[in-house]
Amino acid sequence: MAETAGNQGRVRFAIRRPSFDLGQRPFIVIWEITRACDLACAHCRASAMPARNPGELTPEESRSLIDQIAAFGPPAPLFVMTGGDPIKRPDLLDLVSYASSRGLPVSLSPSATPLLTPALVRELRSAGLVALSLSVDGSSSEIHDAFRGIGGVFARTLAAWEAARECGLKVQVNTTVAKLNMLDLPRIARLVLDKGAMTWSVFFLVPVGRGIGLRQISPEECEDVMNFLYDAGKVLRVKTTEGHHYKRVVLQRMALERRGVPHEEVLNLGPTYRALVEGLQPWPAGPNERRTPIEINAGRGFVFISHLGTVHPSGFLTAEAGSVRKAPLAELYRESRMFTELRDLAKLQGRCGACEFARMCGGSRSRAHAMTGNHLAEDPLCAYAPGSFPFPGDIEELIGKRRTTETVAAPMA
Ligand code: SF4
Repeated sequence: MAETAGNQGRVRFAIRRPSFDLGQRPFIVIWEITRACDLACAHCRASAMPARNPGELTPEESRSLIDQIAAFGPPAPLFVMTGGDPIKRPDLLDLVSYASSRGLPVSLSPSATPLLTPALVRELRSAGLVALSLSVDGSSSEIHDAFRGIGGVFARTLAAWEAARECGLKVQVNTTVAKLNMLDLPRIARLVLDKGAMTWSVFFLVPVGRGIGLRQISPEECEDVMNFLYDAGKVLRVKTTEGHHYKRVVLQRMALERRGVPHEEVLNLGPTYRALVEGLQPWPAGPNERRTPIEINAGRGFVFISHLGTVHPSGFLTAEAGSVRKAPLAELYRESRMFTELRDLAKLQGRCGACEFARMCGGSRSRAHAMTGNHLAEDPLCAYAPGSFPFPGDIEELIGKRRTTETVAAPMA
């Protein structure tokens, strides 16, 4: 049964799947061009420091890496330059320009320091940048700046957001969810709706780097948050990062909607869900902009290269597969033990190994590694008991309705 978007009659697919072999080439490549950053964010994966590491990939090595990424195409993978703060690299504009000239759709994740000026945003656009991602971890300067460890960041983020939109850059807003800001999510959603963004990307904290010191939400709260995101996602284009079981939530909600069965009861949602949904009111009923999740995961469509050239299945999975200084990126992605193991779903363990949603979801391999030391273990943030969803046949049918995607309109997955 095809899903339709409200009364607009559009076919609504449950999950997207790249039409190419994810064992041969990634869907998205993220390169940490430097780990230097002038902020000291509470959740920083990289525990970034102000000074650049002299061991960073050189400009020549950087160009070689960009060539290797472009060689995965066509279509070229989505390409994100991150940090640290990528603006701390003096050759940033050259790198953007070079990557763009090689046909890569380039996105950038800068930090909102005084270096991020509207003039620089315009220069980046001229150099070929396609999209800018900005962190918004609170709806006000009090909450956001508390997360970032310094004042003035929220205001600079809004200024960069405005400048990006004015010069035609797509904007992705990134929000990391922790106990500290969980109940602020409806107000952040409102901000994203009012200011406009291509995507609202909600990160589920992985306890690595400085993030070890932040209080995580519980698995039950995570169910409530993900169901809230499904509701908000009917109007905003929502995606999750290190929250792969959002794909399971989307499938469950779509199945229940088709049957007209109340989701709160079946999915055993708690008071956090009710508080978040109430906080969202009034919320427009449409247009139905829900972004269809894509079937990729760490090492399966996703590859991360550190500032030193080490290759990881995800930026939050600290174990490495090798170094681009010693082996070609394609070889590490296609043949390294870590990447091939992660693409073999039969190797998943615990509840993820027994789960009927594993093909779509697979859990956060980064969180499993960070919290158990085993990247194949079950995702500790998922509350699902495999086999407990009462309409498995509906899920099978929905999974069969996948749109394959060779090229992707949005430059960030
Ligand atoms: S048990 Fe694992 S595979 Fe199943 S929904 Fe949860 S995280 Fe995903």
